[in-house]
Order: sequence, then structure tokens, then C-alpha cells
Amino acid sequence: MADKAKAVEVDTVVIDGVALPPQWNRMFEPRAITEYDLTALDEVTAIPGAESLGWCYQCGKCTAVCPIDTVGDYSPRKIFRRTQLGQSLLESPDLWLCTTCSNCLRVCPKEVNMIEIMPALREQVVSEGQAPEELLTAFENTARYGNPLGEPARKRADWVKGAGVPVPIMSQLKAPVDVLWFVECYPAYHPRGQEASVALARILHALSVNFGILGVEEKCSGDSQRMAGESGLFEMLAEQNVRTLSKYEFREVMVTDPHAYNAFLHEYGAYGGNWSTRHYTQLLAEHLGELHFVREVPWRVTFHDPCYLGRHNGEYEAPRALLRAIPGLELVEMGRCRENAYCCGGGGGGMWMDSFTAQFTTMRLSEKRVLEAIEYGAEVLAVTCPYEVSRFEDAVKSTGNAGRLRVMDIAELLAQSMDLVP
Ligand code: SF4
Ligand code: SF4
Repeated sequence: MADKAKAVEVDTVVIDGVALPPQWNRMFEPRAITEYDLTALDEVTAIPGAESLGWCYQCGKCTAVCPIDTVGDYSPRKIFRRTQLGQSLLESPDLWLCTTCSNCLRVCPKEVNMIEIMPALREQVVSEGQAPEELLTAFENTARYGNPLGEPARKRADWVKGAGVPVPIMSQLKAPVDVLWFVECYPAYHPRGQEASVALARILHALSVNFGILGVEEKCSGDSQRMAGESGLFEMLAEQNVRTLSKYEFREVMVTDPHAYNAFLHEYGAYGGNWSTRHYTQLLAEHLGELHFVREVPWRVTFHDPCYLGRHNGEYEAPRALLRAIPGLELVEMGRCRENAYCCGGGGGGMWMDSFTAQFTTMRLSEKRVLEAIEYGAEVLAVTCPYEVSRFEDAVKSTGNAGRLRVMDIAELLAQSMDLVP
């Protein structure tokens, strides 16, 4: 039991000639907080990687920036408190709602690190087959087909047929290239992702970039599966991708996907994959002066910073430099941008858990973001992460804003202005 605080009152004390009657000199003894059974918290902090949850001192800074809290009841502070009060985080839906957007870590004075806590805890649960059904399906698809969409591996390079420009495949090319383009799953399979891939291929061709793709040899980078708790699957994918890339000669890797960017930058090195890697916006920004814009794009455009390009990896300028260069385009910033950008809800496995998450939130993060873009008067929401086109386009429809806001990849906007797409 707790030693309850006892008020200690002294009769009247006189300090510097000022008399303090008992009601003003009431003091409390230091309180020993022992009423919590810390078993649930100890269970979490004993797991390697999850120790920092125990460092929370409840300042609440994270709650103000957590995207989930704007549509639900969530933040590291709240998670800590519930765990402190005895709720098992390993059995709670809280375990699956975090998108690993990293905004809490940015502001936390105690460095409570959800980017390490979440994968560590999820891994324990996933190893017992206990994750939300949708997530398990995405894991299974990735393991079986090399992509979370469950598309046949042999169709991975089918989008190339509609590119209208040569998109060399390394196994057929049999020659070194300057840029190895790691396309990733959604840009290879999703219809809207494919359109962005075609736009990007045409831009690369117009710039005479010497590039190649892996085609059917490429597998999902696996970074989101890792954050969602499937580290074994990630390891398998990393080993396969590194082995495949190592067969070829190239100067640098260019990725379409910020999640793949994160994997190449921080994870693949441990598997022998140490290549200079850039996001496509970074590579194109270097060629800004060579992009031949021939059409005005007279739209009011706002840009959604992907968590894994911006906050996780510090790139905020390259996408904006490209957008600013497009003639006629007016770039407006939303309030929550750059370091404090809102999250689309797709990171950390959120991409595959929309139905699960819907049970605990009032709306999807993508819906919240779309409404925000409209509030700022944007006609186009520019994106540069392959998860986002489909997420935001769905959100435009589900919020009843069809026809009011277009969602376009930056590659598509550039290609429009360069007259490379209809
Ligand atoms: S910001 Fe950090 S210390 Fe403050 S409540 Fe959140 S997790 Fe706890
Ligand atoms: S990483 Fe993002 S979603 Fe997860 S708790 Fe922190 S702020 Fe919320």
C-alpha cells in the first residue's frame, strides 16, 4: 500500500516578521509511490530494445505531436501510463497503432524511443502468430511472393511494357550502369504506383541517365515488415536483395520508396550492402538545371513529407526544390510540415492494418491529412512515397472530396510539365 501523504501543519510561524497561520504553512511529507504493481511495465522494459519506455516521466510533449492522438487516444505518455497501471502492452491494441512516424522521439526529453520499442515488442507477439490478421496476410504475401500485395513475382517488371522508353533490366543488360533503380513493390504493381514509375522512367530517359532495374529479381525491401515485428522476414529479404545487387556493377542505388531508402541507409550495411543510395527526388534535384519544362502546371500544390524521408532521414529540401522549379506551380505549406509533418498512417505496418486501426480511431490519418490539404486550399497533394498515392486517393473519396483534390507523385508533376505524360 502507498504511504499516503500526510499534511503537517505547524501552528503559526513568523518568517521575516510575516506571520503564516497553519493553513498557509501546510507541508506534505515526501510520498512513497508504491501502489503500482509494475509487473506489466517490467514485462515490457525487460525486452531488449524496449527499455526506454520505462524512462517516460509523463511530461506529455509526445501527446501533442502524435498523429494517432488527433484521431484517437494514443501517445507514448498514454501507453506508459496504461502499462504502469497494469495493462499488458503485449496484449493491447496499442501495440499495433503506432506508425513509427518518429514525431514523439523528436520532442521527447527522455528519448523514449518508439522506433525501437515497437518492433522489439511486436516481434515477440508476431513470433507467436498473434498479430492482426491483415498484417499476417501481408507478411505471408511478402514471404511467398516477395511483395506485400500478393502479386506474382514474375509480373514485377510488367509495368515496363507501358513505359514508352527503354527501362533496362540488369540481368538482360549485362553491362554496368550508373544508377541501379530499386523500384519497390507499390511502384511495380499498384496501378497508380506504376503510373509514377512510368513518369520517372521517362524523366530519367530524358536526362540520359544510364540506369537499370532488377525486374523480377527484386524483392520487397522489407523495412516496414521489420518495423511491424517481422525481423526474420526482413533478414531474409535483405539477404536476397543484397545478394542480387552484388551481382551487378553500378555507381549508386536510387530508390523510389523512403522505406527502402531507410533500409539501404541504415540496415542493409549489416548484410554487406554498402552502396551510396539516394531517393529519386535527391537524384533529380541534382539535375534541376537539365529538366526541360515546356508546360505550365498552374496548380496550387501542397506537399506531404513522408516520415521516412523527412523525420527519419532528414530530407526536406529536394522534393520542394523540384516542386518550386515547375513553372506555374504554387507551393503552399500545410501547418504540419517538415519536421512536424503529419503521418499518412502507412508506416510501421499501418499500410496493411487499416481495418484493425479503424476500430480504435475516429478517422484514418490519411483522411485527416487530406482534409488538412483541402483546408489550405490545395488543388493537388504532392507525394513522394509509394504508399501515399493509394492511401490519399482513397481518403479523398471516403471524405467526400472526389474531384476537389488530386493526389500526384512529384515524378508525375515533373513529367506533366516536361510534356512526357498526357
Ligand atoms: S515526451 Fe517522452 S517523457 Fe514526455 S510523456 Fe512522452 S514519452 Fe514520456
Ligand atoms: S512514433 Fe508517431 S505514431 Fe508512434 S507513438 Fe510516436 S508520434 Fe505516435
